[in-house]
Amino acid sequence: MPKSLRILGRIAVRLTLLGCLLWGGWWLLMAGDSPLPTQWHPLKPLDVAADESWWTGVKLRRAVSSDRACLAALDTGADYVSLPPLEGEGACGIDPRVSLRAVGDVGLSPVETTCAVALRTAMWERHVLRPASQTLGSPIARLHHQSSYNCRPIRGSTSRLSTHATAEAIDVRGVTLADGRRLELVSGWTGDGAEAAFWRAARDGACDWFVTVLGPDYNALHADHFHLQSRGWGLCR
Ligand SMILES: [Zn+2]
Repeated sequence: MPKSLRILGRIAVRLTLLGCLLWGGWWLLMAGDSPLPTQWHPLKPLDVAADESWWTGVKLRRAVSSDRACLAALDTGADYVSLPPLEGEGACGIDPRVSLRAVGDVGLSPVETTCAVALRTAMWERHVLRPASQTLGSPIARLHHQSSYNCRPIRGSTSRLSTHATAEAIDVRGVTLADGRRLELVSGWTGDGAEAAFWRAARDGACDWFVTVLGPDYNALHADHFHLQSRGWGLCR
């Protein structure tokens, strides 16, 4: 066979392979019956209950960047009531505002917060608290918080508003297990037992789903709660 024909043949084989790859990729992403599981499908929206994948963080960032996408994602893993935006004094307020009642099967006393904080709390419950609680011998039934919205400056500052002033953070102080035991961060953080391990796993895992996480290791003001925040510079202590 002449050399030029051999080259043409090789090019044809490569183009066919490339075409198959492109078609396969297009089908996996765009076909309604794509066999890709939700968590591995980059174009499918965040599902709180889906297993984690490389895409989960991307999907979460995409969800919290739009009110509609955030509420749709929250539908997959929380019990909440959507409320009209709250306009507080000055720059204070909550938008988009939800009243969060449960994340997964874990109840909370209703807390008004932003959709982003509610969604991140749901991800934390599903992917961190739930697996971490297995070492406690009983699942978590309730999450105890110290609210989210509070129109006030940062503690120790007179002018800078706290992220609580726009409900972009929630303070969590304890849990009640299904067997009735109540665990408080303030008394459970130190030591090397199962409860201390649980709280440390809860803090470390929170850093995957919130942007800023402050706890007892940060300062004495946070000795009794985790401050879980949906924006900031990525501090995790
Ligand atoms: Zn706080």
